[in-house]
Amino acid sequence: MNNPQSVNPVYKSLWSLPILSKVQIFVWKCYEYILPAKTVLARFSNGHDTLCSMCNSGSHELPEHIILHCDFSKVVWSITPFADAIEQDSSLNINLKDWVIKWLTDVAINKNAGDVFSIAWSIWKDRCYHVFQGKNLNHHLTARLFLKLVNDTKLYLHNSDIHVNTRSVLVVDKTIDQVTSSLPIDCHVVFSDASYDKDTNLSGIGLVLTDLAGSFIGCKLKAGNVRKAEEAESLALLEAVNWAKDKGLDKVCFVSDAKAVIDSFSSSNSQSHWENKTVIDDCKSIISCFSLVRFEFLKRNNTMLADKAAKFCRRSRTSGEWMGYIPEFLNSTM
Ligand SMILES: [Zn+2]
Repeated sequence: MNNPQSVNPVYKSLWSLPILSKVQIFVWKCYEYILPAKTVLARFSNGHDTLCSMCNSGSHELPEHIILHCDFSKVVWSITPFADAIEQDSSLNINLKDWVIKWLTDVAINKNAGDVFSIAWSIWKDRCYHVFQGKNLNHHLTARLFLKLVNDTKLYLHNSDIHVNTRSVLVVDKTIDQVTSSLPIDCHVVFSDASYDKDTNLSGIGLVLTDLAGSFIGCKLKAGNVRKAEEAESLALLEAVNWAKDKGLDKVCFVSDAKAVIDSFSSSNSQSHWENKTVIDDCKSIISCFSLVRFEFLKRNNTMLADKAAKFCRRSRTSGEWMGYIPEFLNSTM
């Protein structure tokens, strides 16, 4: 990175920490105080709800609250080896920026910084699932998420010498975490999905843009008419590619649960009986503007937000774009 950030010792420690890049980005956002907590988002939009919905204690959802003070997070920390240390941090009332600095630079504790940040990331991740997808919180499940993350980190870092810059190995039921762990930190992810009703031929395209850490950046909907479901899926991908280009993105990973569409990109010889070849060819001509592009098929449980957006789009016939804040139709449980 060729900017003043690279000389900041905190950045140096952070970017050299042996953790997955999505966790690094998350920690970076904590340090910069731009983690999109409700109180942070409220700065940009009036009337934004700012109360923490993890503990329902009436506390405002500050970044510190989510990671250190929330009753739910405290229960998660309590079942980790860092319960005492985090309890101390919590009682110190330090802000999240100082908290990151402390764990990165204090030589007595910084050997555990990677694990502590991975746990914090897991809390944040489950907080997001809870807020955006209505998932019930369960501290045991959050604990399992970070144990898996710690495991994935070790596996990935162990294998990175071999696999880095090579195409990720195809595994059954790949997860978004596996996909993002092999991408550079400045890569964006566009989730696309289409919803189609064969009785009316009405379709809805839902696109969700996030950074590599999974933080929401924007959403786009496009309502339309198509002849069949496959056409809707391929148009969704074309819309995603065009959107990424319009947004000036440089490194992008496109994620869809439409296997046939994604396969038509992966196979070098286009043997697939894919009938929307012109749409796919359009996509292929556009993607030359990206310095890195990846197409990934993931099962629907990884693309729930785009799925929700597409359904809302089809049912309500809404088209539009929402950047920087999460539109109401993604917040509400459908
Ligand atoms: Zn709370």
